[in-house]
Amino acid sequence: MVIILRNNADEKQLNHLKSWMKDLHIEVHETIGKKQTILGLVGDTTVVDIQMLRALEIVEDVRRIQEPYKAANRKMHPEDTVITVGDVKIGGGNFAIIAGPCSVESEEQICDIAASVKASGAQMMRGGAFKPRTSPYAFQGMRADGIKLLEEAKEKTGLPIVTEIMDLSQLPLFENVDVIQVGARNMQNFELLKGLGKVNKPILLKRGLANTLQELLMSAEYIMAGGNEQVILCERGIRTFETATRNTLDLSCIPALRKMTHLPIIIDPSHATGIASMVKPLAMAATVAGADGLIIEVHNNPARALCDGPQSLTPEAFDDVAKCVRQVLPYACRD
Ligand code: PEP
Ligand code: MN
Repeated sequence: MVIILRNNADEKQLNHLKSWMKDLHIEVHETIGKKQTILGLVGDTTVVDIQMLRALEIVEDVRRIQEPYKAANRKMHPEDTVITVGDVKIGGGNFAIIAGPCSVESEEQICDIAASVKASGAQMMRGGAFKPRTSPYAFQGMRADGIKLLEEAKEKTGLPIVTEIMDLSQLPLFENVDVIQVGARNMQNFELLKGLGKVNKPILLKRGLANTLQELLMSAEYIMAGGNEQVILCERGIRTFETATRNTLDLSCIPALRKMTHLPIIIDPSHATGIASMVKPLAMAATVAGADGLIIEVHNNPARALCDGPQSLTPEAFDDVAKCVRQVLPYACRD
């Protein structure tokens, strides 16, 4: 439910309204916008008498939100959410590129790649330490040692770290991680999402291989319902009947999600295509379609990568992609 307040609403009456909602065990999210102040009510709002609310002097209108996602809903928060990671902002017209290898493999590898993607203009670095692999015999990541190497690369370059968590037991290792990634395979690991709802760090939530946008937003809702409103949504390709690419990039998710939610939306053209040469056209297309950022896999020796080599760009190819993305950025559609 959303309450739209009249301009210059009386402070005392507003506090009275808030404490009334608190007594009903309903959370109030206040958004002070340029034109209007909105109170988003989250909880069991069936106990709220709409007519009584409408009768209040400070209330202009009250609307029920039909969709099952509430905190993530744009109706709750008409302005774009901007997420801040150190000096980097993402969302609300702020565009950021995250780049780095699929997996952290060695000190030299992660530090070299971090330095090169930084020189090409990436604002954050990625690198998996805990890897969700289809085969239990495949490289599973360097785990705790991988996180230490990411911290070292951060110290050298100043780039914030984005890395994936697979289980809440790993959380203590993420103390110096800037953005915690939830991978596609864990999008509906609800216990993990609930745990991340208690964390005070941005969460990069990837869309599952076969999930709808509403399901993606319901997963964001799990994190937000716990109190952590810093969620970045990521489209990384979905499974369709097409086999020419690893997945099918659903670029229509950008305008669709833009209507549904206020959360930032980034695109991962690497996992979406699985093919390095396809990353550039889709990175540019996603940028023009209005994405708030990109996450791109880069490796200093893709042929020898322990994971996802075929989709990894060389540092030189990434430099070209970053340049082309910056060139088309002024044409990005923000409707
Ligand atoms: C990744 O980003 O390394 C990854 C495993 O991605 P996804 O969860 O989208 O497959
Ligand atoms: Mn990967």
